[in-house]
Amino acid sequence: MHPAPFDYEVAESVDHAIELLGQYGEEARPLAGGHSLIPLMRLRLAAPAALIDISFLDDLRYVREEEGHLAIGALTRHREILKNDLVNEHCGILGYTAGLLGDPSVQHRGTIGGTLAHGDPAGDMPSVMCALEAELVIQGPDGERTVPALEFFKEYFFTDLEPQEVITEVRVPKLGSNTGWSYKKFSRRSQDWAIVGVAAVVEKSDGNIDWARIGLTSMGSTPLRASTTEQALSGASSEQIAEAANSADEGTSPTSDDAASAEFRRHLARVWTRRAVEEALGR
Ligand SMILES: Cc1cc2nc3c(=O)[nH]c(=O)nc-3n(C[C@H](O)[C@H](O)[C@H](O)COP(=O)(O)OP(=O)(O)OC[C@H]3O[C@@H](n4cnc5c(N)ncnc54)[C@H](O)[C@@H]3O)c2cc1C
Repeated sequence: MHPAPFDYEVAESVDHAIELLGQYGEEARPLAGGHSLIPLMRLRLAAPAALIDISFLDDLRYVREEEGHLAIGALTRHREILKNDLVNEHCGILGYTAGLLGDPSVQHRGTIGGTLAHGDPAGDMPSVMCALEAELVIQGPDGERTVPALEFFKEYFFTDLEPQEVITEVRVPKLGSNTGWSYKKFSRRSQDWAIVGVAAVVEKSDGNIDWARIGLTSMGSTPLRASTTEQALSGASSEQIAEAANSADEGTSPTSDDAASAEFRRHLARVWTRRAVEEALGR
């Protein structure tokens, strides 16, 4: 299908994008890589009156090392994250996950800001960001604000973004040498969306777990944290991982669809959490 008619404007700066978004009110949407928005428009599930193209804002494409974290420009593409030395040295889970997003064409066009702004609980990056306790920098008509990833996702495809706001940067912690990570994605075909995904970030000492943070993909209307399992893993030994992982689906609300029943998703969350934590502990 073809999209409904829309206006098209090219933003020359972030301020210009905010100004253009203001001119159209709630009817306009920023366009980054277009790999989520354009398919929705073609299906007429989205019909914005205007697209504000921010994809030429090259000053939002960067990875910088800052005190304690990496700053990643919102228009940095999945492929650039996958190949970035700073990412692979300091936050390997990000590069690894970027390499699991769709196929190479998606990775070459899709952006980190776009995948977060899209707010799809089946997206891989949102749950990884929640496990990392990343922060999003958002710019709007009233200036800049910073939002923890955990507070950013509100409902299916609904985030904390106001209509005139643009994500400009994502801040992820630099993981130390005692921090292991894993992202496990279960899908029936390679390059497909996650039926369930589990992100684990584990701080360890002497082979035991100091703390663990677990992010869940496709287990509810937003990315979730497996908090009961996280509590059970605090101070746990490797022998206690399996029992702790048994509560990974507690507090989740997965749906049944053509890909999997809710009960199967719950099962996957438990099994994949055990495997992800074990891998993170060993990494
Ligand atoms: C075939 C296919 C397979 C895919 N498989 C996967 C997969 O396995 N896992 C996965 O996680 N994703 C997958 N994706 C989605 C992919 O990761 C998209 O690139 C990503 O979701 C959106 O990024 P984008 O830059 O293309 O955003 P766009 O499509 O341009 O925008 C998406 C939404 O975010 C808004 N937006 C974009 N950038 C900003 C910003 N900086 N500030 C504010 N709002 C913004 C737009 O207005 C729009 O509402 C797949 C996509 C396709 C087409």
